[in-house]
Amino acid sequence: MKDGIVLHPEHGLNPSIELCIVCGEEMGIALLGNNIKGQAPHHICTGEICDNCKKIIDDGGCFIIEVEDGSDQKNPYRTGRYCAIKKEAAKKILGQEHSIVYMEKSAYSQIIPQK
Ligand SMILES: [Zn+2]
Repeated sequence: MKDGIVLHPEHGLNPSIELCIVCGEEMGIALLGNNIKGQAPHHICTGEICDNCKKIIDDGGCFIIEVEDGSDQKNPYRTGRYCAIKKEAAKKILGQEHSIVYMEKSAYSQIIPQK
């Protein structure tokens, strides 16, 4: 069984709760088995999007997710703030049409001021 789950010698199925990449909503359980070293993190983000966020994207929305300044592009550190705007607006403001955009805190705060 080539694509099956290889049990982790110590942590077995090694379950982890899968989170929506946009809002952080819990979506389900990912079984990581022996795919990672050690114990699975309690929460992981696999790039999946929950139904609510998917609906907003399907309706022509674009998510802007705030990350810390100087974050690693591949694994940005999210602050927990995000917003959704219309794709047309994203095109005007950001000059692109991706459905999910990471924006550094310094730039994000200029669009949406901190309370
Ligand atoms: Zn979501």
